[in-house]
Amino acid sequence: MATSAVVGALACQVDSYLRNFETSVVRCRQIAISTLSKPGKKAALPTTPPDVVQERYYEVELKDTILFPEGGGQPSDHGVIATLDEEFPVLAIRRELLTALHRVSKPIEPNTPVKLEVNWKRRFDHMQQHSGQHLISAILDQMQVPTLAWNLGEKISYIELPRKLTDEEVLDVEERCNDVIRQGLDIWVEVPDKDLVNKDKLPDDYDAQRGVLRVVHIGGLDANPCCGTHLKNTREMGSIALLHQLPIRGSNSRLHFLIGERVRAYARESNNLTRTLNSRLSCQTDEIEAKISRLESQLRDSLKREKLWMADVVKSDSARVKEDLKAEKKAYVYRGDVVGLDYYNSLVAEIGPLEPNSGVAILACGAGKNGGALLVIGDGADKVASKIREEGIIKGLKGGGKGAKWQGKVTQWEKGEVESLKSFFDRLEA
Ligand SMILES: [Zn+2]
Repeated sequence: MATSAVVGALACQVDSYLRNFETSVVRCRQIAISTLSKPGKKAALPTTPPDVVQERYYEVELKDTILFPEGGGQPSDHGVIATLDEEFPVLAIRRELLTALHRVSKPIEPNTPVKLEVNWKRRFDHMQQHSGQHLISAILDQMQVPTLAWNLGEKISYIELPRKLTDEEVLDVEERCNDVIRQGLDIWVEVPDKDLVNKDKLPDDYDAQRGVLRVVHIGGLDANPCCGTHLKNTREMGSIALLHQLPIRGSNSRLHFLIGERVRAYARESNNLTRTLNSRLSCQTDEIEAKISRLESQLRDSLKREKLWMADVVKSDSARVKEDLKAEKKAYVYRGDVVGLDYYNSLVAEIGPLEPNSGVAILACGAGKNGGALLVIGDGADKVASKIREEGIIKGLKGGGKGAKWQGKVTQWEKGEVESLKSFFDRLEA
């Protein structure tokens, strides 16, 4: 049976600059990945198994590959496997021990000759981030700050450290990294005698006996066992920008970074955001912070004022409800400018418990799509609410209650419904 190149000596690892490659299929097998759908809300029994959704695709093993299989913190490449008459997009390549398996949506016959193409933009970005991470870690190692883990993110990557760096340290590391970039140190891969490699940093499932161990060097600065694809020279990193830190797992800290094209993309996005803030806040960049502070303080003042005014409104509305109840045994309040229940809770509290035979009060609030609330209190409140519902006066009315208090939510006030509610009230026999 034909054999394929092992992970550690794949074409993408031997020469990370190959963008196109000719090879052939060794094996292809169908796989099904099962995902569980969420159990239905109305499952007859709690033990009813959730639906199993099966997605079928194929995993292709090639004689050799320029498509990097995820590993060492570096995500898998994207690319295309092309036969004479068909193209198979590849969005995931995984390792099974020493074999790289390319996921495609249709089968390809063994022995088929194929051409590979790697999504170079994505790959080169990954090479910049990965080689750059080695460089940042090497500089941090010199400061006795070991790298515990790292993550190559969609936009921003991070290195996890055992402690938070000071602002001065961050600036210092950034400066030293960019200094090394300008020096143009060569980056190269050595395949040394296996016994000389520190195997602590290898993944647990890596077959160190059959596999190939690689050590990535940055000039005379750093030597690190790694399976990833790397740049040839530090100059290709362009520049390194260190961003914020976030605390994680006790005293650990995640130091975020950008390298290469990502630095420019970030500058562009940040500038766009700043321009938006300039225009929305009508101010210069150095005034943004002061402007936001002013808006926050204005908002606090407004809320305080609203609270005071609301208390006044509650007092006068409750007085009117009580008067109307005394005079006509029924009362009606509608406030279109109130959406929340705060006002109504205060109003009901201010009115206080109604004695039997005091009459009935309809209290409504809100407007349009925002919806609102409906409260009915007093004699036969639940019956009055039932009537409102039976007559279909408010379509989006949900709620409940017993006896002298009925409370409901109006999901949306449709056109004319407020007027219909008022005329319902006018017709109401006290
Ligand atoms: Zn690495």
